[in-house]
Amino acid sequence: MALQQYIRDIQDFPKKGIVFKDITPLLSSPEGTKECLSLLINSLNGKKIDKVVGVESRGFFFATLLAHELNVGFVPVRKPKKLPFTTISASYQLEYGTDTLEIHTDSIKKGDKILIHDDVLASGGTAKAVCELVERLGGEIVQCNFLMELTHLHGRKKLGNKEIFAALTYG
Ligand code: 5GP
Repeated sequence: MALQQYIRDIQDFPKKGIVFKDITPLLSSPEGTKECLSLLINSLNGKKIDKVVGVESRGFFFATLLAHELNVGFVPVRKPKKLPFTTISASYQLEYGTDTLEIHTDSIKKGDKILIHDDVLASGGTAKAVCELVERLGGEIVQCNFLMELTHLHGRKKLGNKEIFAALTYG
């Protein structure tokens, strides 16, 4: 089955006018999950990775699979006040207001080669904040990868010259 068929459109979620890309059918399919994981791994072309950073909460699923496959550690980036140890934080603009993400200060060492993963690249605000956190800790971002990219929202522009890969794209 084509990967696209594991993604379900949900009208008016989480609010009216939004068509939400639901990844739960993908997660519930071992074939779809394996295929998607292979695409993400192959996109790295064997580049060295020391840590995989995953973004709360839907980014955690494939970030941990990627870390396992690459035989490296997983680092969570979470919403404020969820991480128990010392953190640094980065805020980013939403349509209305701001949001903040945090990472443990000891999770990345200077010079670590980092793969960042989230489920969706939309406007790019989330991924940009995660890049900022990683770079403030001295991590070198090898790639930002996503299950899907919503290209009409131009999130790539916010990520400058970072290498970006998405298993699926929607225009
Ligand atoms: P951005 O900051 O790029 O605008 O939004 C990306 C973040 O919003 C991701 O963490 C992602 O989980 C979430 N997101 C935005 N739109 C969707 C969507 O249609 N489906 C899913 N699964 N997540 C979305």
